[in-house]
Amino acid sequence: MDLNLRNISHRYDEVEVLRDINLDIRHGQIVCIIGPSGCGKSTLLRMIGGLERPTAGEVLQTGALPEGCLNPLTYIFQDFALLPWRTVEKNVSLVLEDHPLSGRAREAIIADVLARTKLSDFRSAYPRQLSGGMKQRVAIARALAVRPAVLLMDEPLSALDSQTRELLMDDLVDLWEKERYTAAYVTHNLAEAVRLGHRIVVLSRRPGKIREIVEIDMPLSARTNDNAELDAAQKHLWNLMREEALAADRELLDV
Ligand code: ADP
Ligand code: MG
Repeated sequence: MDLNLRNISHRYDEVEVLRDINLDIRHGQIVCIIGPSGCGKSTLLRMIGGLERPTAGEVLQTGALPEGCLNPLTYIFQDFALLPWRTVEKNVSLVLEDHPLSGRAREAIIADVLARTKLSDFRSAYPRQLSGGMKQRVAIARALAVRPAVLLMDEPLSALDSQTRELLMDDLVDLWEKERYTAAYVTHNLAEAVRLGHRIVVLSRRPGKIREIVEIDMPLSARTNDNAELDAAQKHLWNLMREEALAADRELLDV
């Protein structure tokens, strides 16, 4: 399934948050969304996920859903959002409880997603027994359990230390190489954007407008840490972000 954002604008009372966003999220691609703090990234993701309606514009869904899809648009948040009193397996099964599945089908889905996220040995563990990286893998497993068409990730690695973040980026790359999932991935971390994004959307300061869309035409598996092309892309993104952040600070002085 593709998502087509058409002329999305949004305001909260007097505050104009997003202005005229046009963007396609194509099947099998990871689209990273970056921009200065407060520019409307999370708001945009909520509109993509249908949690909030934009003041103007629309999000169109085109193309077929994945087979067995139970929830087309599924979130992964920074804070993992696990229930502490439930085991790994029960945290995953939570999202299947409202669906008419046989016990056997449910079991098969849980075993499958735990294997894909390398958590099979931890199915009976409680969140408090897991590292931050593993907790986020549980959240990823839970998201995959509903066979989403598009994963919506809001700063999914921001609560993790830098080594764990590296490991999880590797996991997200491996998973993409195997499954070609589609994702909208909000981050303020430029290294994540150049590692994971097929396209990187740079939003301006608030009201967020699309400042530039940077395509990185390099296989995810080839994106190593000391790559000149990626370093150049990251530098370019930083220059754009820096301009926006400095301009936002100047505007604060003007009011
Ligand atoms: P980002 O994720 O890029 O940091 P957000 O999308 O969270 O930015 O917020 C964009 C702007 O909208 C901010 O100024 C924020 O204070 C404001 N905002 C976000 N949600 C609401 C809301 N529910 N009501 C009023 N203002 C909001
Ligand atoms: Mg945010």
